[in-house]
Order: sequence, then structure tokens, then C-alpha cells
Amino acid sequence: MTRLSCNAANCVSNVSGLCGARNINVAGASAHTSVSTECSTFEEKGLKSSLSNITNMNIPGQVKQLFNSQSIEMSPNIRCEAQSCKYNENMLCNASDIHVSGPGALSSSRTCCDTFVE
Ligand code: SF4
Ligand code: SF4
Repeated sequence: MTRLSCNAANCVSNVSGLCGARNINVAGASAHTSVSTECSTFEEKGLKSSLSNITNMNIPGQVKQLFNSQSIEMSPNIRCEAQSCKYNENMLCNASDIHVSGPGALSSSRTCCDTFVE
């Protein structure tokens, strides 16, 4: 599984710089640069999003992460539409480590996959 770190701190799934979602989708079907990608699973933190997000929480990963703070144990399954990225294999990400960026983001359009390489 791809180890994922993320600095989109306003996302409901962000847990101390890691992603607590079970599944995410990276959009960017016509992307040729990282800024043209985005994590479309981003949802701004709030009561409503916390409730709607419950079904997509990676509970086993979150528990495992609690006991392994020095390594990334909690990462989502990543579906990715950016097929021009060299790490994209049949719409799935096969990179060993990726970073999603979105400092201050309040919507998915302000996030991107920094690891994109054409
Ligand atoms: S922006 Fe995407 S990768 Fe980052 S925490 Fe949210 S769902 Fe996970
Ligand atoms: S590294 Fe490439 S394939 Fe993986 S999520 Fe980012 S853009 Fe998609």
C-alpha cells in the first residue's frame, strides 16, 4: 500500500498529517503537472462532514498508527484518474510514498498530489 502524508489540515480525514480515510480519489484526468491534480475526497472539517465520513474511516489503520508513531501505518487505497502520471497503473497509484498538498485548503480544488510525475 502507498504510504501517504498530507498537509491539508482542514480536511476531515486529516489526522496529524496523515490520511485517516479508507479510500480516496485523486482527480486530474487531463493533468500534465501536479497542480492539475486534486484529492476529490477532501471535505472540510465540520460536524456534518464528520458524520458523513464515518463510513470511509480507516479504523484498523488508525489504531495501528496509534502504536507506531514513527512510521506511516495508516494510508488509504488510492484511486487516481491522472493516467499520465508514471505511478498510475490501471487507475490505481503504485507509488510507495506520496504527498498530498493543501495547506489552508477549504476545498478539494486547493489540494494536489505533489508526487505526480509525467
Ligand atoms: S485531502 Fe485527501 S489525502 Fe488529505 S486527508 Fe483529506 S482525504 Fe486524505
Ligand atoms: S503519484 Fe501519480 S498515480 Fe499516485 S496519486 Fe499521485 S498523481 Fe495519482
